[in-house]
Amino acid sequence: MSFASLGLIPELVTAVSRQGYNTPSPIQAKAIPVILKGQDVMAAAQTGTGKTAGFALPLLQRLSAGKKAGSNQARSLILTPTRELAVQVGESIKAYGQHTKLRTTVVYGGVKINPQMQRLLSGTDILVATPGRLLDLVNSNAISFKELEILVLDEADRMLDMGFIHDISSIMELLPKRRQTLMFSATFSPSIRHLGANLLRKPHEISVDGHNEAATTVEQWICPVDKKEKPDLFLHLLDEQDWDQVLVFCLTKNGTDRLVRFLKEYGVKASAIHGDKPQSARTRALADFKAGKVRVLVATDVASRGLDIDQLPQVINFDLPIVAADYIHRIGRTGRAGTSGIAISLVCADEFKLLSDIEHLTGRELKRKFVDGFEPNHNLPQSNMIRKIKKPKKPKVKGKQKNTRQGSAQSSGRGRTSTGLSSKKKVSKKKTVRGKNTARGKKKISAASSRKQQAAAAKHKKPRKHD
Ligand code: AMP
Repeated sequence: MSFASLGLIPELVTAVSRQGYNTPSPIQAKAIPVILKGQDVMAAAQTGTGKTAGFALPLLQRLSAGKKAGSNQARSLILTPTRELAVQVGESIKAYGQHTKLRTTVVYGGVKINPQMQRLLSGTDILVATPGRLLDLVNSNAISFKELEILVLDEADRMLDMGFIHDISSIMELLPKRRQTLMFSATFSPSIRHLGANLLRKPHEISVDGHNEAATTVEQWICPVDKKEKPDLFLHLLDEQDWDQVLVFCLTKNGTDRLVRFLKEYGVKASAIHGDKPQSARTRALADFKAGKVRVLVATDVASRGLDIDQLPQVINFDLPIVAADYIHRIGRTGRAGTSGIAISLVCADEFKLLSDIEHLTGRELKRKFVDGFEPNHNLPQSNMIRKIKKPKKPKVKGKQKNTRQGSAQSSGRGRTSTGLSSKKKVSKKKTVRGKNTARGKKKISAASSRKQQAAAAKHKKPRKHD
């Protein structure tokens, strides 16, 4: 199948072939013809499937047939949950639309509003926006939607998770009722269906296989480890596996900064990207990472959507996400568009419930690999992954022994996989550090061992406060 056979105009076909796309991905093959016909669409597509082109190409084609936008008007609106995703969608649209005369404008918070107001003065064909900044611009009379033809909600599930529902409702009040609406989401959860029922007219539902799974090209496993050992284990893996670049997810902004500090202490080039950083710092961190100037990019979930970094072969979950669906989005940063990738999660006993939620959502038990020297003291039980439908209880037979599953699943030895990691000869953490940076490494080794000794001593004196 070709892009031309989907009914796309030559200007767009040429642009996608310049991007190196030869055949449409499944979501593109399904969505493009329907959107070209003007129908509403509700699509469940896992991250990294090519969904941006799936809505952007037909949107560009439909808009290229109409009139230019009036001043302070937008002919189409694409709402995204994060600034990074807005920028990325904007860049993709500019690339796909390079042979059209259509104008794309991207607006998001965390930067000055005046330049964005200036850019909107002469109107825009495509406006890519995050909800909060869009409302600010509406309130400043910088934009209105009398001429709006198409609305796209990208990563709608994420917008709901991030609490944008009120902003979305306010924005909907401003839009004309007659419009084409396209909603993309990783999953069709009940709340997404509810939102869809309010926003879409007789939507055509599209779902590409395995929308609750990450790309099948991503190899996934977990390393059970004690919480306090996570930084050392990460450093060990970084060195042992000799990763050129890795994206790491932490749960909190503090945790992100702490890990970056730790890595820098060991001479690893790392930067952080999270919601408390000014937009300029976030953009610079991402650009440095993309340019290969930074080896480790540590991010909170704010960055888990929309980061499209070419050939990113590994993603590490330093902490598991609170919302299980975020696991899929995080690891979707690798294995994009058919390339292979590895996603490793460092999981401590405290995260057992989060792990169970993820395994329940994806319907698969994640392979466990124990790393020599980092086997946890606090056991991570085998998760009760598939929550079985409870059968009605049989009446108790007197004298029959109670069936107990305890012990089998709880034993830490169970589920241990013999792996490339654990089968490799034991590499001490000292060696790990020395391997990368000799002079500095030596200094760090002594720091590391004294740190370890202090920790060990403290363990015997009084329990250390968990951070
Ligand atoms: P998306 O899911 O839209 O974020 O796209 C994920 C990645 O796939 C991006 O790097 C796109 O450039 C790439 N991509 C999108 N469509 C295709 C295609 N038909 N063939 C090859 N790569 C594609």
